[in-house]
Amino acid sequence: MSHIIYPTTNLKATETMTMERGEGVYLYDNHGKRYIEGLAGLWCTSLGYGNQELIQAASDQMAKLSFSHMFGGKTHESAMQLSDKLSAMLPMDNAQIFFGNSGSDANDTHIKMLRYYFDAIGKPEKRKIIARERSYHGITVAAACLTGLDVNHKHFDLPIDALGILRTDAPHYLHGALAGESETQFVDRITNNLEQLILREGPETIAAFIAEPITGASGVIVPPEGYYEKVQAILNKYDIFFWADEVITGFGRTGNDFGSTTMDIKPDMMSLAKQLSSAYMPISAAAVRGDMYEAMIDQSAKAGVFGHGFTYSGHPVAAAVALKTLEIYERERLFEQAAVKGEYLQKRLQAYADHPLVGEVRGKGLIAAVELMADKAAKKPFADGRVGSYMLQACQNHGLIIRVVAGSAVAFCPPLIITEAQIDEMLEAFDKALADTM
Ligand code: PLP
Repeated sequence: MSHIIYPTTNLKATETMTMERGEGVYLYDNHGKRYIEGLAGLWCTSLGYGNQELIQAASDQMAKLSFSHMFGGKTHESAMQLSDKLSAMLPMDNAQIFFGNSGSDANDTHIKMLRYYFDAIGKPEKRKIIARERSYHGITVAAACLTGLDVNHKHFDLPIDALGILRTDAPHYLHGALAGESETQFVDRITNNLEQLILREGPETIAAFIAEPITGASGVIVPPEGYYEKVQAILNKYDIFFWADEVITGFGRTGNDFGSTTMDIKPDMMSLAKQLSSAYMPISAAAVRGDMYEAMIDQSAKAGVFGHGFTYSGHPVAAAVALKTLEIYERERLFEQAAVKGEYLQKRLQAYADHPLVGEVRGKGLIAAVELMADKAAKKPFADGRVGSYMLQACQNHGLIIRVVAGSAVAFCPPLIITEAQIDEMLEAFDKALADTM
């Protein structure tokens, strides 16, 4: 396994997989075995592998200007164009964009921008952030504090309280509902809990509520009808920002431009990465409303430098690749296509709902999960993750790459360019893997 310390890996793992090349929705390992990509890398390779236009965009930009930093207001064409393009696309008023390298750092950036903004408008006590159980917001020290998964907290002694991170319920009806509770009653209860939390802490101390419109790493949780409407009303009532973490749901994944559109959310802030560049280059964007940025400018005029930035903020090659990615999405009408192919995927997956091992099938657009269960009637999940790793291996044996999340939910998130015939191929492999697991 060489000298690598592997990320998000049981370090005792002895087996690995060596990937050699990719083409369209297929990957090939070092033995020449072909796999169909069921998870778009890590929810990110929307345009698949070997896209010549993206390769050319990177190469042209490298030849022209391989690097230029943005400290002190120094700028360049590709980052400027990308910010204008994004600002026009995002469902926010006059969005202003801070560029970084990963979804985690976009979330860290937002924590700092919130503080800077509330200092600027004379409300320095408005600092706390509400995040949900079972959420994934990244892995740097600050972003991991937002994340609501035990595995990312254990052993790290994260400064959750120091950062003012509060936790509220996940909108996961399957595992969160009380016995006999209807979806409506569940939504009423958890949104009431949210309001009580805000009142307990004091609305004047709470800056933002962060949510993935549909979650990814925590099991593809699609909130019940009415949830976001209630959440948004509560946040508006107490003057708390809606911060949409669209690192996975951004750019067509849920069958619309953004997950916020699909779930009818009006965000004040957005975090974007992954499909922003189809993962050909690392890049992230932390977007805020124009009026928030105006206030930050006033603060900077008084206090001086906004002391936050990465060497690679607005990296010209990453920006050029992202710009080309957005151009391809538009030209090929990939978001509309994702809606159509997404419907096909969801319909096909629903056929597994009656399978004796399947507890629930859920998803929207081209993101879905098939949750395996030890006891369907009792909604009892497989406890120890063994089924997850068995399933992962069985899929790989049959030439399918998926990811098992939240213990035993098989996640599907194929590249947006997948065809219906390739969706069939993906599910044929899944059928065989499921049969092996019985
Ligand atoms: N936010 C969400 C919703 C994510 O799914 C992820 C990664 O999967 C992140 C943030 C962190 O992104 P990165 O791994 O690029 O730091």
